[in-house]
Amino acid sequence: MQDELSEILLASDVIACRVEEIAAELGRRLAPLAERDEPVVLVPVLTGSLVFTADLIRQLPQKMRLDVVTVSSYPGASTESRGATIRGAVPEDLEGQHIVLVDDIFDTGNTLSLLDRLVRERGAASVTICVLLAKPSRYEVELRPDLVGFEIPDAFVVGYGLDYDGLYRNLPFIGVLKPEVVE
Ligand code: 5GP
Ligand code: MG
Repeated sequence: MQDELSEILLASDVIACRVEEIAAELGRRLAPLAERDEPVVLVPVLTGSLVFTADLIRQLPQKMRLDVVTVSSYPGASTESRGATIRGAVPEDLEGQHIVLVDDIFDTGNTLSLLDRLVRERGAASVTICVLLAKPSRYEVELRPDLVGFEIPDAFVVGYGLDYDGLYRNLPFIGVLKPEVVE
């Protein structure tokens, strides 16, 4: 699988260090809630944020609930987003809750913008957006993520939860696919 990559952008130890820092920063932001013993509701955006979320939450000691949402934007073998669509159930009972949206990447921002609106409409008391990656050159929305692991250039990346046509999610690092693989 690794020979289908042209470059490793972020090695697994680099990701691990940064996830630790993000967890610490998120923990600081959520400290007032923890002091009041109020749980936070983490909303991982599946499937891409699965690996990031698993590493992140084990470094967050506060009370939390997990309420996943599934969004699809690249149907099949495509690197061209067709707009975000929510698949399946959406989180309920968000009235007065403090929400952390967790995603793999803030690309155009349309996915997180849609989810930010959705949870606010459902009465969330606060929304924090936490992403591992961001591509600032691609932003199409006014919304900005609150916490970003790495800003990356405009390249299609895979690994650490991110896929191409459903594959490569299990790579422990993040890399760029060779152009001949992405047809
Ligand atoms: P947005 O709505 O911000 O344009 O796109 C968000 C979603 O598109 C992400 O959650 C992710 O699933 C997918 N995406 C965006 N850029 C990439 C990329 O470089 N690689 C992969 N594998 N998925 C991406
Ligand atoms: Mg996604």
